[in-house]
This record gives sequence, C-alpha cells and structure tokens, in this order.
Amino acid sequence: MKAMNNTGIVIGAGIAGLAIAIRMARRGMCVSVYEQAARSGGKLKEFRQDGFRFDMGPSLFTLPHLVDELLDEDLRPFYRQLEVVTRYFFEDGTQLKALADVEEFAIEVEQKLGVSADKVKGYLSHAEEVFELTAPIFIFNTFHRWKDVITLANFKRLLRFSKLKVFSSLHQFNKQMLGDDRLVQLFDRYATYNGSNPYQTPATLSVIAHLEHELGAYFPKRGMHQINQLLFMQAKRLGVDFHFNTKVDEVLVEGKKVRGIRIGDEEKWCKQLVSDVDIHQFYRSLLPDRKRLKKLEKFDRSSSAMIFYWGMNKRFPDLSLHNIFFSKNYKDEFDNLFERKLISPDPTVYVFISSKENPDDAPSGCENWFVMVNAPENVGQDWEQMRRQVRKAVLIKLGRLLKENLEACIVAEKCLNPVDIEQTTGSFGGSIYGASSNHLLSAFYRHPNFRKDIEGLYFVGGSVHPGGGIPLCLSSAKIVERIMVEKTKLR
Ligand SMILES: Cc1cc2nc3c(=O)[nH]c(=O)nc-3n(C[C@H](O)[C@H](O)[C@H](O)COP(=O)(O)OP(=O)(O)OC[C@H]3O[C@@H](n4cnc5c(N)ncnc54)[C@H](O)[C@@H]3O)c2cc1C
Repeated sequence: MKAMNNTGIVIGAGIAGLAIAIRMARRGMCVSVYEQAARSGGKLKEFRQDGFRFDMGPSLFTLPHLVDELLDEDLRPFYRQLEVVTRYFFEDGTQLKALADVEEFAIEVEQKLGVSADKVKGYLSHAEEVFELTAPIFIFNTFHRWKDVITLANFKRLLRFSKLKVFSSLHQFNKQMLGDDRLVQLFDRYATYNGSNPYQTPATLSVIAHLEHELGAYFPKRGMHQINQLLFMQAKRLGVDFHFNTKVDEVLVEGKKVRGIRIGDEEKWCKQLVSDVDIHQFYRSLLPDRKRLKKLEKFDRSSSAMIFYWGMNKRFPDLSLHNIFFSKNYKDEFDNLFERKLISPDPTVYVFISSKENPDDAPSGCENWFVMVNAPENVGQDWEQMRRQVRKAVLIKLGRLLKENLEACIVAEKCLNPVDIEQTTGSFGGSIYGASSNHLLSAFYRHPNFRKDIEGLYFVGGSVHPGGGIPLCLSSAKIVERIMVEKTKLR
C-alpha cells in the first residue's frame, strides 16, 4: 500500500506531538498519532489520590499565546495572569514576594534586600534586550539552514552581540549586576528552568527572567493538565486519529525518503513523519545511529527531579501557588547535581500548590502540595535511599521555616523520581529538558528539527531545537510546520 501525499504520522502525544498534529491537520493533512501510553500529555499529566488532584510535571506556564494560537476561539482564554509569581524563603529568614508588576517587584526587593529598585529594573531591561536579540534566532526559528540565519535583521543583531555576555556564566553576570547574594541566588535559579547549572551556563539565560517577570506567569483555570486536555480536544476536532497504548518500534526509511513506521509486524506508511520521542531514544531504538548518539552524548543532560506529592490536611496562608525555599549553599547544590550526580543534603525546595488557584484540587480545608527538588539524571543511583534522605531533609527544612510539624499534616503521598520519568515518557536518564545549556555551544548542538538527508522526517519536543519547557516545545512544532509547508508546498 502506498501512502497518499498528505498522510502524516506523529510518534508521541506529548505537548509538542499534539501541537504539530494540530498544525498538520489544519493544513489539510490526514494525521495519525501513535502514543505508547494510555493517554496524551507525556510529561504534562495529572493524577488523583484520596480526594486530591495533582499536576505531575510542569507547573509554570509562560508565553500562553503559543497555546492560544493552536486553539479554536471557543476554547480560549483558559488561564489568568498571576499577580504574585513566586514567594521566596531564604535560609537567613528573609521572605520576598516576586510580584508580577515590575515596579512593585523592584520596590519589594529594595525594601527586603536593600538592593536599589533601579538596579533590579536595569537587570530586567537588560534581560529584555537579550530576549529581543536571541529569541528570533534561538527560540522561534531554526538556525540549521543558512537562509534562515543570513538575514539583514540577524546581521543587525550581530552588531549587538556583546550584550549577550556569552563568555560570563549566569552566576558571574548576576553577581556583577546585582551584588546581594540572595538576589543573585534568585536570578541564578532561572538556569534550572531548562535544567542547567548557573555556574556554567552562559549569562544569555537571563532571558528567562524576562519571560517570567515581564511577559508574565499564567495559570490555567483547571490546572496545568488543562493545556493537554484542550490540545487533545482540538486535535480530535480536526480529525486527528489517536492510537494509544501503541509503542512504535521502528522508523522506516527507503533510500533518502521516510516511508513510515513499524509497530510489531505491522507497517504504517506516510509521507511526513514527526517524532516527539526523546532524541536519544530515537537513535537508540527507532532509527539506530551510533554516530549521532555519540555526538549527542558530548553534552551534559539536563537535570531531572524528585517530586513528593503530598495531600496536606490544612491550609498554609503564608504560601502562594509557587514557593521557593532556597538552600544555604547554592554552589554546592549544583556541584552535587552535575558533578557528583547526587541531591544535595540541603536542596532548594519548590512547593507548587494548585489548590491555591483551584480549590477543587483538594478537599475542603486541605491543600495539594507538589514538592520538588532538582535531581541529577539517572545513572544508576540508589533512588530509594535518596528518596528517604531527601524526604527527611525537606520535612526538617520546611518545618523549620514554616514553624509546623509537616509530617503530621500529610494525609496522601506519592513520589516520582528520575527513573519513573524515564520509564513513563522515554526521556533518556529521566532528564526533564533534554540536553542542558551548561556549555557555551549547547544551543548549536541540539538536534535540528529536520534531517537534511531524509526527506519527510522531522523532530519536535524538549530534546531537540530549541529545547525543553512548554513554550520551546510548542515553538519546535511551529518551526516544523513552516519547514514542512515550504518543502511540500502545503497550503
Ligand atoms: C517534573 C517536571 C517539571 C517540569 N516543569 C516545567 C514547568 O514548570 N514549565 C515548563 O514549561 N516545562 C516544565 N517541564 C518540562 C515540560 O514538561 C517538557 O519540556 C514538555 O512537556 C515535553 O514535551 P514533549 O512533547 O517534548 O515530550 P514528552 O512530554 O516527553 O512526550 C513524549 C511522548 O512520546 C511518547 N513516546 C516515547 N517513545 C515512544 C514510542 N516509541 N512510541 C510511541 N510513543 C512514544 C511518550 O510516552 C510521551 O508521551 C517539566 C517537566 C517535568 C518532568
């Protein structure tokens, strides 16, 4: 059987797989999605336990227009902008509210940390400039084709290259710009948004502060999982055909053209094939290629996470939707993560409580806590021992800072570690964001969204260009759509 010209297959129904399926279907293609799990969403999943609902993976939602543009009008808007982005708790007892309004945030920093408001605003306007310089090249476009790179606009951007501070680490830059150790720690933390080490990643990553503080942080009315639900609903509306519990075993290539996929003994043919599978797994099992794997292995994987989902039998008025409890020694924390491949004995703890926004996520008088610490990728550590140590350390730390016996408040519990993330989503080593950005050239070594040598084969998702996190995954789908349209003359 021959595939019709407009048949497309997507492997994986993560957020990026759903986005490209919607984009292809809108272009009039006949699209089938094959997903090994029982449901769509990939890392963006939810679960329910003892009356609590928990988002399992992503919790911070930025650049929501990238979801809006995939949805029919009646499905949006489905989120609201947060007024308090994050509450920060430092080991010296300082507490700080990161307010969405930049003026108010700068004043809060001045009052609580004694750093002038102008310094904070200056930092954020620098981050904005870096965003404007880099986003059109590194986030919303591909630089794997000369015609996309050599443009007049990019030439003008090149003249402002020194602004990017690529030869300083994010930490060095923050130290120099901000001085105060607590504020430096706050802005260093943005490196973790793509699983990187602030002591190594280039200062260019300050763009993330711009995303959160100036473009804003948002939250879906029914929790993060709603993003997956809406994209799935939209894809179904457009006639996308989903096959769940269906693991793809092989990608079939004939000469220089993609031919389809193999599932067990069955072959499915198509003209356009998009993989949302972690790129390591892709070259390990779907289209084995040792040379390409070796190239990918040159760079550090991003960090992973250990998450405790705790149903709490009381409410905590001092906490917001997003809360950070910083470690005392940030450098040591990252040395543990990236060099020793361990979780620090005093980790920075992130507590996300969706019931603050959606009271239905917890029984009356209760809260659903998602308690996350950064973890190294899985290289065979004893995760059960690490779970016990981290649980104890987190309970002591948060209990001390919140003056509460937290263990006594836990009425429902589950834990997720890097091995679980690897097993449920196919992410190599359980890394959350594919390759880290620890190296100056990391961005250039991310796998492109297409193969020059195989017609009809494309890649989306967090492990390929432009990288991990919901906005970047959605951007990868947008880039693939553009290239596919150019190559196939789709309308
Ligand atoms: C704990 C955690 C916290 C995070 N926090 C944030 C956050 O706050 N904000 C943010 O923006 N991002 C966050 N992220 C990152 C974000 O979740 C990911 O970047 C994004 O969801 C990845 O989507 P994806 O489509 O690339 O891949 P995935 O979600 O990994 O989906 C890939 C899909 O492919 C399927 N698959 C794999 N192999 C096969 C096969 N052979 N056959 C069929 N199907 C296959 C998998 O089952 C999976 O469903 C977080 C991630 C985690 C895990």
